[in-house]
Amino acid sequence: MRCHSCMVETAKIYCPKCTKELFDGKKVQALTFDKQEFYQKRKEYAKRISISGVQDKLSLTFDENNTLITTDIEGHYILKPAPIEEQVDNSHDICANEHLSMQISKQIFNIPTAGSALIPFSTGELAYITKRFDYAKNGQKLDQEDFAAVLEYTSDRQGRNYKYESSYEACAKAIQMYIPASMPALEDFYKRIVVNYLIGNADAHLKNFSLYRAEGRKDRSLTPNYDLLYTRYHIPNEEGYMGLDLFEDEGDNPTKAFEAMGYYTLEDFELFADKIGIKTKRLEKIFEHILVSTPKVMEMIEHSFLSDEGKEAYRKNYEERLKLHLCYSIEQYDFNAKMRKVIDRLPI
Ligand SMILES: [Zn+2]
Repeated sequence: MRCHSCMVETAKIYCPKCTKELFDGKKVQALTFDKQEFYQKRKEYAKRISISGVQDKLSLTFDENNTLITTDIEGHYILKPAPIEEQVDNSHDICANEHLSMQISKQIFNIPTAGSALIPFSTGELAYITKRFDYAKNGQKLDQEDFAAVLEYTSDRQGRNYKYESSYEACAKAIQMYIPASMPALEDFYKRIVVNYLIGNADAHLKNFSLYRAEGRKDRSLTPNYDLLYTRYHIPNEEGYMGLDLFEDEGDNPTKAFEAMGYYTLEDFELFADKIGIKTKRLEKIFEHILVSTPKVMEMIEHSFLSDEGKEAYRKNYEERLKLHLCYSIEQYDFNAKMRKVIDRLPI
């Protein structure tokens, strides 16, 4: 059997490592309730629920028998089933899509990423589950702020779409301001942007990045990565490429490639790295790692819980974004030539 979290072959639904990491060693097999009960509870808690977002979610916690139950207070897990009605395309793949996207971020790009898995309802249907990272081991809530709060973007000030009205450059400046010794955090943030671009997540908005004070720390850091999804597969007509612009003032920085193609390519990502202070040598390392990891991404897609059509769509999108977008450039120059050599060695 595939571990329903890390996807390695294992005897039970979760391998020992994931059982420890995700469930603190508690032997979880499946939920004891079905989807109907999920929606019933969802209605009951509706007035008090605080987890934001549009997809229906519920908090879960362990009861005294180590069984996962729904709760409306201080649940350390979030359960997100596939939408019950056909509100989006390919809704049967949405849980496997988010799970795969999170595992790519964690296992391949080595980005700190929230714990994630698929978990069966009592009927066997799989739902997506993620472990909250904003609680300390003693149950205390950690101090956390998303980037809408950090940059003080609100619906009153920026309007209804406020969480899409900023740029990754503005987020990076906030990281420089609030995180001491910010370079590792900036590189981490940069990788998150590239991953979102490659997997086709057009919903990486201000609320999907946060700062927090990790347990036992006084200074702030980026929270683990969360809410990753190849959104185009479910919303084909979605606008934009990642959710936010790369640059604070797009008009001031159009690269030749962006002017010609209308989407971001290598030149834009190089310029973005430069603007946020990532040195060329480091950028080459980051890109090389991303490029040589491509076969591992393909393997993980194949091992994922997506349907065959889902795998095909995920793979095609990733390859297209990598080859035709991220690695594309109009002009030949140093960085590009070096990356070209890496790209040419890839088996894709
Ligand atoms: Zn595992």
